[in-house]
Amino acid sequence: MKTIKVSVVTPDGPVYESEVEMVSTKAKTGELGILPGHVPMVAPLEIGIVRLKKDGKTELVAVSGGFLEVRPEQVTVLAQSAEKSEDIDVERALKAKERAEQRMKQQKLEHVDFKRAELALRRAVNRLNVAERKF
Ligand code: ATP
Repeated sequence: MKTIKVSVVTPDGPVYESEVEMVSTKAKTGELGILPGHVPMVAPLEIGIVRLKKDGKTELVAVSGGFLEVRPEQVTVLAQSAEKSEDIDVERALKAKERAEQRMKQQKLEHVDFKRAELALRRAVNRLNVAERKF
């Protein structure tokens, strides 16, 4: 089966690198499925999941927005942060989720940056979904 090289990189360094059969994720413009030979393109990503199909299995990486670039021999995901499912600290994500929910509740009482709390909540829920493979 044909494969394509995929790298997921963040400002802290590379998170994932492998030859895969297919990359799929949700771009801001909709679902994307990249197979070897896909036309070159760049797409902005949401907070979401990058699915990497390899040897009949699907590996998951949680990403917190960024860009996906397709070149003839390589797919690169440049993300603000990214974690492989097995590297996700579930306790930490649960705490981040609670913190964000508290901030969103306090919004009416105090000056709280609602959008910031909402994004933190989405990152935490996304990490929990990836760690628990709910997708
Ligand atoms: P927290 O409030 O727990 O820091 P956050 O969503 O604000 O969560 P980010 O700013 O997105 O965190 O990420 C900071 C760094 O911490 C990144 O390197 C990211 O990969 C890592 N990270 C954040 N949450 C987790 C987690 N639950 N498990 C593993 N790594 C995490």
